[in-house]
Amino acid sequence: MSESTELANIPCDILSPKYPKWQGITIGNSIVCDGYYEGKTTAVFSHFHKDHTHNFARTLTRCHNVILSKITYDALRMVDSIPERGTIKILSEGESFRTELGEKIELFDANHVPGSRQVLVTMEDHGERILYSGDFCYPDIIVPKADILILESEHGEDVYDFSTDKSSVLRRICEHTISQIEKGHSVEIKAHPGTMQNIMAELESETSDGMVIPEKVPFLADEASVNLTKAVKDEYNQEIRKIEVASNGRLNELYSDGNPYVLFSRHGANTSPQSERGTVIHVDANKGFKTRGPWFTNDEHVYFACLASHSSFTNVMEYVKAVGPRLVIVDGTRASPETANSLKHKIQNDLKIQAVVKDCQR
Ligand SMILES: [Zn+2]
Ligand SMILES: [Zn+2]
Repeated sequence: MSESTELANIPCDILSPKYPKWQGITIGNSIVCDGYYEGKTTAVFSHFHKDHTHNFARTLTRCHNVILSKITYDALRMVDSIPERGTIKILSEGESFRTELGEKIELFDANHVPGSRQVLVTMEDHGERILYSGDFCYPDIIVPKADILILESEHGEDVYDFSTDKSSVLRRICEHTISQIEKGHSVEIKAHPGTMQNIMAELESETSDGMVIPEKVPFLADEASVNLTKAVKDEYNQEIRKIEVASNGRLNELYSDGNPYVLFSRHGANTSPQSERGTVIHVDANKGFKTRGPWFTNDEHVYFACLASHSSFTNVMEYVKAVGPRLVIVDGTRASPETANSLKHKIQNDLKIQAVVKDCQR
């Protein structure tokens, strides 16, 4: 193993048969990011998504320090009811944390979901800098320079090279929802945690022609999403109405009384049976956006809106250039190994930077 990978690695020991992927990322002497690794005593979490926090409970009992942003902590506390512990250290931007083994940790906004951060570690004895991107959306973020970059690779292929203007897509979702509500139709919006709350906040704000969703129109979601909304709501300038916990009975009641509603559900969750009567908006990044643009429908019933919370492929490459590392370690444990390997080759061929993939496939 080279000197570089001792400073940063994604060890492929499978900790639990339930989670053969989503490995912890080790940095420096004592740090592990987004997971747990035996012997590493300082855990850092980039954001609240499940593939980045599945070993959180284990770090609470075994690590001396657990470092995260305030919003990530609030989200985990509200959604997963994690206990309060003296070892948890909230780290704000502009602050740093020093470990006992001479490592300085700093967090930088990653523009992925509320509270998401890039993790920068500086080795105090020789000044080596190691950056873990976490999930990120470039540009609109500060990009620290680093010698070694551990890179998330979700959009690391050029099928993900669509342009999307988040604020105009948010407005399209909003205008479409308002027009449906006006016609008495309900809308089901399917989105990832965090992105969902961005949409809620947008739906509360006035459109350019002064339209709003009337106060009496209920917003509903599953219990975890209701709790996450409570945890992150102070992030927004816009007040978000009280979100009701959705149930089949309640949705049927609203329908039979002729009251339109907005239902938020998570990707992967079943679409509600009631959605047949209204419209569904899938908010995500899918490969159709490259050819069809950031907002399209096949049948005027199901819509697809591109609100990518990850960078486009071109911007992943721009980010790597901005970091300017001598080595990139591509995380293939949280994206498809094919995508991760293709990204590695692109970085090597186009940027002439040494790159390796850790996909833990073998
Ligand atoms: Zn994420
Ligand atoms: Zn991720």
